[in-house]
Amino acid sequence: MRLHIDRDRCTSIGLCEALCPDLFELDDDGSVILIRGEDVPDDVDTEQVDAAVSGCPNGALSTTA
Ligand code: SF4
Repeated sequence: MRLHIDRDRCTSIGLCEALCPDLFELDDDGSVILIRGEDVPDDVDTEQVDAAVSGCPNGALSTTA
């Protein structure tokens, strides 16, 4: 699974970080950092990833297989 961020849509609300802290972090400027890169590692709970993607209020997150 690969993560994508549409940075034009992201408004730095931080819900992704709250729902999936293993992958998402906001830096001091409010930019989302993919802590472990775009490719989701096998040890990450995919339910958390799905929660972050579907929970983003701006639809800024998506995944591809
Ligand atoms: S939940 Fe969406 S809008 Fe909020 S910081 Fe994450 S990507 Fe950006």
